[in-house]
Amino acid sequence: MPAETAIGLKCRLCGKTYPKEALNFCTEDFGPLEVTYDYDAVAKTLDRDTIASRPRSMWRYHELLPVDGEPAVGRQVGGTPLVRADRLARALGVSELYIKNDAVNFPTLSFKDRVVAVALSKAVELGFQTVGCASTGNLANSVAANAAAAGLEAYVLIPDGLEQGKVLGAMIYGAKVIAIDGNYDHVNRLCSQIAFRFGWGFVNVNLRPFYAEGSKSMGFEIAEDLGWRTPDHVVAPMAGGSLIGKIHKAFKEFELLGLLETPVTTRMHGAQATGCNPISATVRSGSGKVRPVRNPQTIAKSLAIGDPADGYFASKLIVETGGWSEDVEDEAILDAMELLAETEGIWAETAGGVTLAVAQKLIEQGRIGRDESIVLCITGNGLKTQEPLLERMRRPVVIQPNLEEFEGLLETMSSSPSRASLAGSVA
Ligand SMILES: *Cc1c(COP(=O)(O)O)cnc(C)c1O
Ligand SMILES: [Zn+2]
Repeated sequence: MPAETAIGLKCRLCGKTYPKEALNFCTEDFGPLEVTYDYDAVAKTLDRDTIASRPRSMWRYHELLPVDGEPAVGRQVGGTPLVRADRLARALGVSELYIKNDAVNFPTLSFKDRVVAVALSKAVELGFQTVGCASTGNLANSVAANAAAAGLEAYVLIPDGLEQGKVLGAMIYGAKVIAIDGNYDHVNRLCSQIAFRFGWGFVNVNLRPFYAEGSKSMGFEIAEDLGWRTPDHVVAPMAGGSLIGKIHKAFKEFELLGLLETPVTTRMHGAQATGCNPISATVRSGSGKVRPVRNPQTIAKSLAIGDPADGYFASKLIVETGGWSEDVEDEAILDAMELLAETEGIWAETAGGVTLAVAQKLIEQGRIGRDESIVLCITGNGLKTQEPLLERMRRPVVIQPNLEEFEGLLETMSSSPSRASLAGSVA
C-alpha cells in the first residue's frame, strides 16, 4: 500500500512551504517544519474497516505517515498493548485507567522505534547511506538496531554517563557510538554541525519533520483501541516535547477524517522530572516562554533535555487543551516505578515513573477527575535503567535448600505486606 499522501513541509511559524527533503527549519525565520498531507487523498483509502484489516503495526495508518513507498525500515514496529489498569486505578482512586505500553515496542523496547521506523525509511527514500542521531539513550538504541537491520551505517552520539543498558544497547548493533563530554544540548548542537558538514541523515536533526510524525502512531493506536474514541486525559512524558503534540495531532487527524465516535476533548498533560523541567515550568508560570535548564540533574536521563526543540509548542498545546504539566523528584519517580510494577506487572524505565508520579499529582490536585478516562503513556523499558533501582531494592533472601529454613522464612515474610497488597486493599 504505497501512500503518496504526504505533500511537503510547512513552517509552523510563517507557513512557508518546502518540498519533501532533509530540512528541519524554515530559511526565513528558523521556525520548525512540519509534514503536510492531502487529507482528501487519505480519506479515499483510509477508513475503519481498511485499518482493521491490516496487520497490527504502526503501518496500518500508512497514509498518515510521511513515507511514500513501502517502509524500508521497521515494518513490525508498533501495535503495542493498551492495557486496562484496574489494580493501579484502585491504588490511585480513579475508575477508568489505561496504560499504553510502549515498553514492549519492537525491536528496542521504547516508543523511539516508531519515530526511527519513519525517519530511516524516509532516509532510504532520500538516498542516505549514513545516518545518525543525537540521543538521550532510547533513540540511540533504536537507530543502531534499525540501521543495522537496514544495512545503513550509523553514527550515534550520546552524552557521557548514560545508563549501561542504553550504552550496550547501542554498541551491540555495531553502530559507531560516540559519548560527548557534555549534556544533551551539547550533543545536539554538534550533531547539527556534523549533519551539515558531511551530508548525513540525522533522524532528529535534518530528518526531524519526518521523524516526529512517527509518534502519531501512538495516538492512532490509543484511539482505535478505545473503540474509535479519545480519552478524557492523556499523560505523556516530555523530553524535546514532540511526542505529546503528535499524540494530539493524531486524534485531530482521526476526527478530521470522520473516524471517531465523539469529538476530541482530550486534555493533554505533560510530565517532567524536577531536575529538568523547562516545559512544566513554562506551563506553571504561564509565561509562554521556555527558559532552558542549563544543567539537567535527574535519574530520568531519557527526558533530560534542557533546551527542548518543541517546548514552546508543547506548552501551548497543554494550555489550549485544558491540560497541565507537573514535575516530580527522583524519589517519587522510583516509588512510581515500583507501584506500576507491583500493581500491573509492568516494569517501566525512569520516564514511566515520571509519567505515573505526575498523574498521581494531577489526580490529587483535582485536575484529572476520578471518574474520567485516563491514558498513561509508558514509553520505555525498565531493563534499560536499572542503576537507580539497584541502590534501593533489597537483595533476595538466601536460604539452605531445606523445608525447615523455608518455613521459618515464610513466617517473617508473611508479616510484612507488600505495597501491592496495600494498594489492592484501597477501595
Ligand atoms: C525520547 C523519550 C520521550 C520524549 O520524547 P519527546 O518527543 O522528545 O518529548 C519520552 N520517553 C522516553 C522513554 C523517551 O526515550
Ligand atoms: Zn517560517
